[in-house]
Amino acid sequence: MRQSTLFTKTRKEAPADEVSKNAELLIRAAYIHKEMAGVYSYLTLGMRVLHKIEQIVREEMDVIGGQEILMATLHPSEPWKQTGAWDSVDVLFKIQSRTEKEYALGQSEEEIVTPIAKEYLTSYKDLPKAIYQIGSKYRDELRAKSGVMRGREFRMKDMYSFHATQEDFDTFYAIAKSAYLKIFERAGLTAKATEASGGAFTTKLSYEFMVLTDAGEDDIVYCDSCTHCANVEVSDQKEGETCSRCTKGKLHAAKASEVGNIFDLGQKYTKAFDFTLKTPDGEEFFPIMGCFGIGTTRMVGVVAEALSDNKGLVWPQSIAPYSVHLLALGEDEKVKSEAEAIYAKLTEAGIEVLFDDRAGVMAGEKFADSDLIGIPLRAVVSSRSFEAGGVEIKKRTEEKGSVVSVEEFMKLLATRD
Ligand code: ATP
Ligand code: MG
Repeated sequence: MRQSTLFTKTRKEAPADEVSKNAELLIRAAYIHKEMAGVYSYLTLGMRVLHKIEQIVREEMDVIGGQEILMATLHPSEPWKQTGAWDSVDVLFKIQSRTEKEYALGQSEEEIVTPIAKEYLTSYKDLPKAIYQIGSKYRDELRAKSGVMRGREFRMKDMYSFHATQEDFDTFYAIAKSAYLKIFERAGLTAKATEASGGAFTTKLSYEFMVLTDAGEDDIVYCDSCTHCANVEVSDQKEGETCSRCTKGKLHAAKASEVGNIFDLGQKYTKAFDFTLKTPDGEEFFPIMGCFGIGTTRMVGVVAEALSDNKGLVWPQSIAPYSVHLLALGEDEKVKSEAEAIYAKLTEAGIEVLFDDRAGVMAGEKFADSDLIGIPLRAVVSSRSFEAGGVEIKKRTEEKGSVVSVEEFMKLLATRD
């Protein structure tokens, strides 16, 4: 992509009412556009990051047998009334049509997925099944001060699983937990799995996947020796105490953001929708359900918070909008044509490159924009880099770059993971 044709531009300032670092950086770098508190549009660069995150999530859900669907987000009120959530879920957006019919905007999809599953899963032999979607959610959140980390409109991967026995659920739950840790790792995040009670859904066990960041809204304690981690809200463990799991490490307190969670829903929804199947012996049972959420737009915000520096965003390679930021500096014709040739080579090799080919933009501004946008590798073509033998490359995470020949540069990109 040529930066000269990109329809967005970086900005010096974020909107005055934006208090979160993630949204401030994402807005200034033109990844997102603020519509109002808690509601953002995703622009060219932001869309590419979101798409990559969601693709990682999709791949890992497919590996564990998830089947992707896309459910409606404009919901009839009836199933919400049937489960009682119409009155009890305070974040539910309710809409009245001009004919005074009532609707809900999807804040989660148990009310839609359970009746769908009931229609198609008609024998115990159809179990287990895991159905997921990646889509928009709407919640009437009171506080929307955390940028894309807490939206009133946001995106989530939500998977729902159906099982004949608790044992079968437990097996799948462990598999899903590993898949979750893999997803966060692939996206460049270190997530800790807390054990917590299932909150509004159930009193059964759930895991929350927490990424340490001062911008997080959760308080956790974690062990410095093993993987133990707990949400302070539900745990009686305190900072400074010895870890109850490994009995060796010490517990530390930290702020964290919940990027995903997995719940045992039990038979709550299958009972509410009278979804029964028969065992081979002809005994009726309500399938056990699991719910597995990941906030994909929250992940964008958490990466922006946790991995940025004072110059701007810093994307991990796996979710970066482009893998190389190629900068052509100066008005020298030789430089321009060499940069064009490199851009053509990269494009031909299938490497995703943002090419800052803007004429009349000073080098300092191009560097500042490049740091703000945060593509993991910068490659500069200038008269100086020519004299030194080729292209000056620098990782976004490093202070100093080095000059390599064009051939070496191409080889390096081909072997980069
Ligand atoms: P929180 O405690 O942060 O409100 P939650 O327990 O309400 O989260 P779930 O309903 O289980 O979250 O949703 C699954 C995932 O969706 C969460 O783990 C989080 O990553 C994401 N999520 C929840 N609410 C929001 C929101 N308002 N904006 C962005 N992402 C969200
Ligand atoms: Mg919530």
